[in-house]
Amino acid sequence: MTFIDPQSEQDPLEVLHRVFGHSAFRGLQEEVIRHSVAGGSGLVLMPTGGGKSLCFQVPALCRPGLGVVVSPLIALMEDQVAALRQQDVAAAALHSELDPDEARAVWRDLNSGQLKLLYVSPERLTSEGTLARLDEMRIALFAIDEAHCVSQWGHHFRPEYRALPMLAERFPAVPRLALTATADPRTVQDIQRQLGLEDSPLFRASFDRPNIMIGALARDQERAQLRGFIKRAGDSSGAGLIYCGTRRKAEQTAEWLRADGQDALVFHAGLEPAEKREAHRRFARGDAVVMAATIAFGMGIDRPDVRYVAHTDLPKSPESWYQEIGRAGRDGLPAEALLLYGAGDIALARHRIQESGASDEQKRVERQRLDAMVSIAEASTCRRQILLRCFGEAAPEPCGRCDICLNPPKLFDGTVPAQKLLSAVLRTGRRFGAGHVIDVLLGKTTPKVTQFGHDQLPTFGVGRDLPESAWKGIARQLVAQGALDVVVENHGELVPTEAARPILKGEQQVMLREELVAPLTPLGRSRARPALPVLGNASADPVFAALRDWRRKTAAAQGVPSYVIFQDRTLAEIASVLPADLDALGKVSGVGATKLERYGDAVLRVLRECE
Ligand code: ADP
Ligand code: ZN
Repeated sequence: MTFIDPQSEQDPLEVLHRVFGHSAFRGLQEEVIRHSVAGGSGLVLMPTGGGKSLCFQVPALCRPGLGVVVSPLIALMEDQVAALRQQDVAAAALHSELDPDEARAVWRDLNSGQLKLLYVSPERLTSEGTLARLDEMRIALFAIDEAHCVSQWGHHFRPEYRALPMLAERFPAVPRLALTATADPRTVQDIQRQLGLEDSPLFRASFDRPNIMIGALARDQERAQLRGFIKRAGDSSGAGLIYCGTRRKAEQTAEWLRADGQDALVFHAGLEPAEKREAHRRFARGDAVVMAATIAFGMGIDRPDVRYVAHTDLPKSPESWYQEIGRAGRDGLPAEALLLYGAGDIALARHRIQESGASDEQKRVERQRLDAMVSIAEASTCRRQILLRCFGEAAPEPCGRCDICLNPPKLFDGTVPAQKLLSAVLRTGRRFGAGHVIDVLLGKTTPKVTQFGHDQLPTFGVGRDLPESAWKGIARQLVAQGALDVVVENHGELVPTEAARPILKGEQQVMLREELVAPLTPLGRSRARPALPVLGNASADPVFAALRDWRRKTAAAQGVPSYVIFQDRTLAEIASVLPADLDALGKVSGVGATKLERYGDAVLRVLRECE
């Protein structure tokens, strides 16, 4: 059965229905697709999960000739190719890790004009052999996925992408579509310049991802906080990601999660290529799998049903944080992101920037990005509004879908406790970290307190009215507000800044967030989970469970990830509509003609067995 004649033109909407089984385009997709079917080039900015793949897959199928997709990661290419083949699209991937037989098969299909979509790594594409072959072929379009890899300003610069500007010169008649989830204006301009897209349109979707509930918490008891979060957000069968600041921490996190009985994996740049591939593969195929990783784990994650993303350390910019949490809930179903952070993170990140070999300009930019991230972490108004503002997007209303909106922090006049803490810092000689200063405030006679005679100070014991956790919260907020610095290169001692002076003199009021000062409760316990436009409470439905079970077996038999058979969303819709025959099943979003033919009878059988 051949659906797509490689040489003839097709209608986009018809391709969407027939091949992908979706009823309508989403957001900007239609505009982008019409433009590129007509032969236009451009740059597409859409958040992760926004639906970028269809923006190039549909035009590639509609235009005569071969669609060439440049992609930086092998795992990503292979999953997309597997998903396309499920839909009977002649797709293949060309990269350095194919064995010679596989590579020969790809070349054979390429030479015979059989292929409709070719995924290729940048270094393979720009090798003379490939280019010479492409010169002779009709090319529908070049899609440059993860286009921020071309820019040094982006956070995933790939030297191999540097060769891509030549596409514009060598194939001037072929439209180029670059796609990225990075909205940082500097990176965007750089991509346009590098890929010769300055005069082509920029398609910019909203970066809001309303189905991702976002929240942040001061890191208090990290494991307990994560356990509570995973239990709630993972909902027993959902996959999740835990981003850690260092490789070591990723390893340790995976270890204790495993000891907890979780199916936990680890990923970081220090793994061997084979280990990385295995981790990718297991993550793509596992059910309630959780990946503890550094930010090295990212672009290859194509699974649409990641239910939660946690950060155990402060990300270095809102852009990277958003890209990382954006890996949750691509299927549009509810997902959740949690950021854990401490004052030490902020200080450490500032220190790293200072000590890096970057130019002053670059350091300044990095500092701005970090400050923006801190303002999100320490927010006392809607976090999503602050976040979207970082991307140059106005969000007039509070979102109602973040921890702050759901549970607005109460502010209180914290001038007096702030003065107590600052004066304890001064009186102990600005030589101690928060732990010791707080011991003095609480009037604890630790060996260190006695040794330095700090039990003789007037500030000794003046903080007994508040618990230790409250003092930690106050210290952190004073750091965030810039009244205290943490000297990271030594032992994390606290040092008052100029901004501390008016506070100590009583000339300036300090407003503090009550909840950061009160003992902390994990996000879920005190806060209700908001209602979302979900397809029912699918995970508790026995029909949905039976369909998932069938899907797992079917996927395992073919050695592909479950979601390339059908996504959760599709199964949930089937479980709620309960189609009686193939016609009705074919109307469900995500059931295209090929999938209907392949799996329709089996799905109807599962439904009958559930009756
Ligand atoms: P991105 O590459 O931008 O992160 P994807 O292309 O992976 O996003 O799409 C995200 C999810 O949205 C996928 O599960 C995809 O099947 C789904 N999707 C995309 N476009 C549509 C559409 N028009 N109708 C229904 N589902 C869609
Ligand atoms: Zn909000």
